[in-house]
Formats: sequence, structure tokens, C-alpha cells
Amino acid sequence: MRIDIITCLPRLLDSPFSDSILKRAQLKGIVEVEIHDLRPYSTNKHKTTDDYAFGGGAGMVMMIEPIDLCISKLKSKRTYDEVIYMSPDGELLTQSIANELSLKHNIIILCGHYKGVDERVREHLITREISIGNYVLSGGELAAAVVADSVIRLLPGVLSDETSALSDSFQDGLVAPPVYTRPAEYNGWKVPEILLSGHQSKIEEWRHNNAVKRTEERRPDLLKSSNSED
Ligand code: SAH
Repeated sequence: MRIDIITCLPRLLDSPFSDSILKRAQLKGIVEVEIHDLRPYSTNKHKTTDDYAFGGGAGMVMMIEPIDLCISKLKSKRTYDEVIYMSPDGELLTQSIANELSLKHNIIILCGHYKGVDERVREHLITREISIGNYVLSGGELAAAVVADSVIRLLPGVLSDETSALSDSFQDGLVAPPVYTRPAEYNGWKVPEILLSGHQSKIEEWRHNNAVKRTEERRPDLLKSSNSED
């Protein structure tokens, strides 16, 4: 899979992809992540990528031309399944959207900044808009990293068996059960006996029952629909 992220602040995306699981996924050749700085695509002499809003008002607007040039250049090299704009009014990111995106080959993610992008970008150049929550960030970079992380960890070979994505919250419509590690007792606080028993089927039963209990307590909305978090 290949993910191209377009941004006017590329440095904001340096660290999310240079550590741990996301770094390993790239080193293993499972995913290619390319960050594209919009600035070189600007055709004005100051290489700016934003301008004042028509009609006035506070806040700058990202211009269509550099975005169009960057997307066109990428599209001239390969076919893209989706061109996603990160936007607080887009569809809310869920596990099922992450699952769906993980089956694509090439995606572009456009990060907005300031007041966002010229509306014509959204009308003509974008295929999908995704929000990571009902709050406003100062830019789409962290949101793009969230989307990319949620997708990349699902790609076959990225996670080792013991961190399998299938046992994570939401995959089966339940949140994850509690987990523990050594020591078995700390300050008198004990790990549930069953987890130390070595009795695998009993342990699985305990985990399932606790996932259901925790879902009932914390996210009863997930139990209402058989289709997990939709
Ligand atoms: N004026 C816009 C907000 C712009 S915030 C509005 O009120 O809707 C600047 C940029 O940050 C956006 O263009 C978007 O790319 C990104 N962003 C902000 N909040 C986000 C969220 N919840 N999910 C995804 N992207 C977000």
C-alpha cells in the first residue's frame, strides 16, 4: 500500500512515521508513506500556499492551485483509490472505515490548515472527507497521522501475532478486555487468578465475558447495533 500525505507543514509529520510499528511497516516494505510539501507547488514568487478569504473575515485559506498541481503530479504516476481531505465536518473515523481503507492500494491524504482549503478543492479534487472527532485541530497533519496509523496497523504482516489487530477494541463490536503483566501482585493488587491458570479455554471465556461487561458499562451503544460502531 502507498499513502501520500500533502501538507504545508511537512515537519509535523516527521515523527509519527519514524518510530515503532509505523516505521517497521515501511522498513518491511508493507507500506510506503510519502510526505509532500505544498510549498514547491506554489507558482507565486514568495512560494505561499494560502491567501486571504474572498469576502473578508479572519483567517487564511489554502489556495487551490498548489494543491491541484501536487495531486495531478501524483495522479500522473499511479492511480489512486481515494483522495481524502481531513476535515472536522467529514465522516467520523471508525474502525470500519480503517478496515475499508486498509484494502486500498494507493491513497492521498490532504491536510488543511488555517481556515481550511478553497471549497473548489473539496468539490473537484477530493473523493472523501474524514474527521477524527467533533473538535477542531489547527491542522490536518495529526489527523492524517491518526488515519494512517489506524490503517497501517491492519495491513498483513505489520503486527506480530501477539499484538493482533483482531483482538483490539471495536473489531468484534466490543471493547477490549483488561490486560495484565508481571508482577502477579503489586502493592497487594492481584491479577485475576484465572489468567495465571494456564487454562486457555477458561482464559478466553473470561476475556470474552469481561469484554462484554466492559462494553455494557462503557459503550452500551456498541451493543445496540450488530454492526459494531456504525
Ligand atoms: N474552519 C474550519 C476548521 C479549519 S481547521 C471549520 O470550522 O471547519 C484547519 C484544518 O485542520 C482543517 O482544514 C482540517 O484539515 C484539519 N482539522 C481540524 N479539525 C479536524 C478534525 N476534527 N478532523 C480532521 N481534520 C481536522
